[in-house]
Amino acid sequence: MKGSSKSRNHFRVTVGVLLGIGVLCLAAYYAVYLPYTERHVIASQKVRILMDTSVDIRVDARNSEQLVNQAFAEIERVEETLSRYINTSEVSTINSHAGEWVEVSQITIELIKEALRIAELSDGAFDVTVGAVMDLWGFGTGQYKVPSEEEIAQALETVGYERVEIDESKRQVRIPEGTVLDLGGIAKGFAVDEAAKFLRKNNVKRAIINAGGDIAAIGRRPDDTPWRVGVQNPDNPSDIRWILPLENSCVVTSGDYQRYFVYDDQKWHHIIDPRTGYPASELQSVTIITERATLADALSTAIFVLGMDAGSQLVEEMEDVEAIIVSRDAVWISPNLNKQVTSR
Ligand code: AMP
Ligand code: MG
Repeated sequence: MKGSSKSRNHFRVTVGVLLGIGVLCLAAYYAVYLPYTERHVIASQKVRILMDTSVDIRVDARNSEQLVNQAFAEIERVEETLSRYINTSEVSTINSHAGEWVEVSQITIELIKEALRIAELSDGAFDVTVGAVMDLWGFGTGQYKVPSEEEIAQALETVGYERVEIDESKRQVRIPEGTVLDLGGIAKGFAVDEAAKFLRKNNVKRAIINAGGDIAAIGRRPDDTPWRVGVQNPDNPSDIRWILPLENSCVVTSGDYQRYFVYDDQKWHHIIDPRTGYPASELQSVTIITERATLADALSTAIFVLGMDAGSQLVEEMEDVEAIIVSRDAVWISPNLNKQVTSR
């Protein structure tokens, strides 16, 4: 009897001591460790050329340098999988085996599905089978030329997103013989999303990723205000025309000044109207703001082709999508965004 009450007391004392130590540890964690780590958050920023553009990543975190490098690795992985200018990529394999089923990774399936969804949504203005037309104009190789009408008509026969087949259960894709898949209008946004997803998974609360104008912002700036992103004047790209606040959101711009050549006093740029095979000519730039850069990227290209009326209508129909659409003689800013942008 006596022995058992003694051991009960002993047990109570032990539990009490352990609880006390636990409380002390918690208090020390909140009062000392957390403020210490917060004070030691440092920012790292690096620029690298990837996906044929300059990619700039800034991360504010304790191990920011390592995280920046790992975020770049995410972008590299996407490029190695999806670029049609890398021979070993999955997209290159799909293209070199046109007419046959090709097994690919899940991310390729997902991205092609998203590309086809935007194709439907934009009535074919966004079409990732424009590869043969792009090649004809020399985009990609840099050997630019204005093709003949016959050449364009021939290349257009290979274009048609509805002929891309996906077998999800076997994770396979098939395009018709002669067709060239080109994810250039959506892959950069996807790469930015993958890098942002990686950073969020690693608990990063403040970062900004900019892949040649495809931008994702995580959290706010160090002074606790939203990140600020400039939108260029398409007539003079070194001039910033609008400033957008950005917080846990993405912005992507498609513009006729981003990739082009001049021939016969005319500017021939890289966004092709799949209905004509010529560069879409109505707009100068389209900026899309939404939660995912993949969507913003595909939509900015799609709306560039759709033009002012159909483009602004599509933006109005979509939830949580804002836009700035610029033509030679007009600017349309979606109503919600209008309250937030600063014009310069
Ligand atoms: P972006 O810079 O995002 O507007 O995309 C332009 C790139 O998308 C081009 O360099 C092509 O690789 C590809 N592209 C061009 N026209 C189209 C189109 N109508 N639909 C889908 N992708 C396109
Ligand atoms: Mg795009």
